[in-house]
Amino acid sequence: MKPKILIIYTGGTIGMITDPETGALKPFDFNHISEEVPDLKKIPYQLDTLFFKDPIDSSNITPKAWIKVANQIEEHYNQYDGFVVLHGSDTMAYSASALSFMLRNLAKPVIFTGSQLPIGVIRTDGKENLVTAIEIAGSQIDGKPIIPEVAVYFEYKLYRGNRTTKINAEHFKAFATFDYPILANAGIKIDYNFNKILPLVEKPLEVHKSFNTNVAILTLFPGISQKYIHHFFSAPNLKGVVLHTFGSGNALSEDWFIEELNRAINNGITLLNVTQCKMGEVIQGRYETSKALEKIGVISGRDITLEAAITKMMLVLAEFSSVESIKKELTTSYCGEMK
Ligand code: ASP
Repeated sequence: MKPKILIIYTGGTIGMITDPETGALKPFDFNHISEEVPDLKKIPYQLDTLFFKDPIDSSNITPKAWIKVANQIEEHYNQYDGFVVLHGSDTMAYSASALSFMLRNLAKPVIFTGSQLPIGVIRTDGKENLVTAIEIAGSQIDGKPIIPEVAVYFEYKLYRGNRTTKINAEHFKAFATFDYPILANAGIKIDYNFNKILPLVEKPLEVHKSFNTNVAILTLFPGISQKYIHHFFSAPNLKGVVLHTFGSGNALSEDWFIEELNRAINNGITLLNVTQCKMGEVIQGRYETSKALEKIGVISGRDITLEAAITKMMLVLAEFSSVESIKKELTTSYCGEMK
């Protein structure tokens, strides 16, 4: 039996070709994908495609698009062995994180990929990314998928989706996972890092589709003013803030700052501490400058990425309302996003 793969095109550079008349980049017709990438015909899989009617540059992605992708996966879950999501690279790390939290008990590969150069350009990185992402999505051992999780494939590497960050706007190597090893390396053969891949769960897929977008990110910097912090926390309906802190989760220890945070918490705003460092984790209380955060009830995000933190917060705040349950959800790893 040939593996069956569903390719879902949301938008982004990978699906672009140059219009011969105008010279401008435009999305190509995905019904004719194998004309653009003839090598697809050589893959011994059955490939089907779905595409957004109006493909989006990923900078315009919102939870609505995540729900659309999740619905497509849910609707076709039993008919396919794996899914490839073609997506702009700019916010791919957010979307891969969001989908990993939405698709609970996922037991099939959902591989995000895209490219830095359009697929219709001679030097494109899109063809290799697409072909290998498809191959990975259909790879099985003893009839079981090798990657039963949401992952990102880019430039010969497979990463856990919710650990990924876009690190380069120009190079083909556009992604990295700083606090987690790669899941696979594609060389002559695809070398899987088996003991770093999530175990297969045998429970029915559960798709979570509610988001609370009353959230924000507060990046600290030396010299940040009380006026700014005060206005920030006065935003109407604010429910959750990722506090983007220094080093191992440190922040200024001035009284006015701690008082502003304390007031926010007392007003029902959840604060999640995520470090600005690419590697390493938040340890509240390690330094004097994070002790007060721990004391007033700021939640430690440990080694979660900013992208995973903000998307998980949107889902958690849509489903939970008590301080204890929100804390429990945000400190529990759902699918390998944190230690
Ligand atoms: N701006 C594009 C996007 O994210 C870049 C890309 O496709 O990689 O949709």
